[in-house]
Amino acid sequence: MSTYLFVLLTLPENRKIMKRHLQLNIKQLSSCYADGSISPRLVVDYALDDAVKLKQLNAFINLTPEKSLHQAKESDHRYDKKEPLSVLDGVPIAIKDNFCTKDLTTTCASRMLANFVPPYNATVCARLSSAGAVLIGKTNMDQYAMGSGTVDSIYGPTKNVWSPNLNDDKWHIAGGSSGGSATAVAAGICFAAIGSDTGGSTRNPAAYCGVVGLKPTYGLLSRHGLIPLVNSMDVPGIFTRNISDCVDVLNAIAGPDNKDSTTIRRPYTNIELPHYEDIDLRNLKVGIPKEYHCEGLSQDVLDTWMKVADMLEEGGANVKQVSLPNTAASIFVYSILNQCEVASNMARYDGIEYGHRANNDNSTEELYAMTRAEGFNTVVKTRILTGNYFLLRKNYQKYFEKALSVRRLIAQDFRNVFEAPKHSMKNIVDVLLTPTTLTDAPLFSDFVSLSNRDQCARQDFCTQPANMAGIPAISIPIRLSRTGLPIGLQLMSRSLNEEILLRVASWIESQVEFDCLANEQIYAARS
Ligand code: GLN
Repeated sequence: MSTYLFVLLTLPENRKIMKRHLQLNIKQLSSCYADGSISPRLVVDYALDDAVKLKQLNAFINLTPEKSLHQAKESDHRYDKKEPLSVLDGVPIAIKDNFCTKDLTTTCASRMLANFVPPYNATVCARLSSAGAVLIGKTNMDQYAMGSGTVDSIYGPTKNVWSPNLNDDKWHIAGGSSGGSATAVAAGICFAAIGSDTGGSTRNPAAYCGVVGLKPTYGLLSRHGLIPLVNSMDVPGIFTRNISDCVDVLNAIAGPDNKDSTTIRRPYTNIELPHYEDIDLRNLKVGIPKEYHCEGLSQDVLDTWMKVADMLEEGGANVKQVSLPNTAASIFVYSILNQCEVASNMARYDGIEYGHRANNDNSTEELYAMTRAEGFNTVVKTRILTGNYFLLRKNYQKYFEKALSVRRLIAQDFRNVFEAPKHSMKNIVDVLLTPTTLTDAPLFSDFVSLSNRDQCARQDFCTQPANMAGIPAISIPIRLSRTGLPIGLQLMSRSLNEEILLRVASWIESQVEFDCLANEQIYAARS
């Protein structure tokens, strides 16, 4: 770092300005850029500086300072000429390391891709870049997004910013698999971050880290360049500190993409949320699915859930209990389908085209076997083996086809509560309110004493059904638990109903007033 920059960043008045700017939302930050009260370059310098100071959190696999500074300078010029590209121009963001970034390493936190430099950008990254957003770095994750904790990365686990003490060994997990992205936002390094969500990987760490995490409708965002886990469920996810920012990022990246034939062809219309005071809940029907009141749900989470349900009722909404009878089957169905798709997706890593190649020239078979033995961790290998077992001719019907039919039942459960069949007087709801996770963030030491399968079975109970049905879902931070860790709640709605989902989320946000950055420890660590 140059001496000039060092002096600039440590000036107390600049630190104060920066602390204030962190409290802004993206629209307000963009107005400050436009009126010249702060520059993208300064904000990006701070973001990079903070990322280094908060290295102990292990949120990033790689920072991208050269690219960040280049993008920030370009953004400065655009604001000088009064020609910003969008509200995201100059806004520091982070991207999970399973999205391809041109000329920047994309590792999936695996040995297999540790040196993989893609020659192209994922569509989501390209759209953020065309909107002027500034990339700070690629974030940590569970290897190939297989996990719920960000504990299975070859670069080590990510720590939860809200852990009462980051320096002893009693720290809490950030959640996963997009724990690095959630942490980059929760720690105030970036204003937004991109994760992926196949069974909860955006909503789970959002809840644990006290930030907003949106999993949009399947196909609303392009998966082009997102290294696949389960193609039929994967979606890019969005982390922000508030709903307004979430909408701004969604508007920049949503919509059809010729490079991904599974994107919804209908053109995307930008969402504009009214001021929260103008959000009227009187015609809103909110469902409380009784099956989500499940074994393992902590009293703290249950109380929070009921408190927000009461709040919505007092606000004028019609809140009622509904039933999604196949919810409990979700964990098993997800697990079978996940492993089957993993088995086929991972076949591409053979050491020939790209990625790690073992040092073995005895035979092609040995080269494949050794490359894969060295490149993947135990979790990935186990899922490949199990998936191939389910796909054997003798098992295909018993497991894979059966799981597909139960998946349809799970999706039908949602249709039954969201869509009334023609001429029926059936009671339908606009949104469902549920916990995101059963507890607040577990201690790392407790979490890793479980197998990956048990970790997911416990952590993903409330999140996986939405992936199975392809519907949109969001986790909103509500309050701190008795142990001082964030608790989030989830809203779900029918496909392409993001606007209602975000409206209700915005209303809840205005009532609970959760301060994502009320974490003094983090301020102390960076100053
Ligand atoms: N925990 C789930 C799994 O490991 C979900 C992961 C995800 O959403 N990427 O499969």
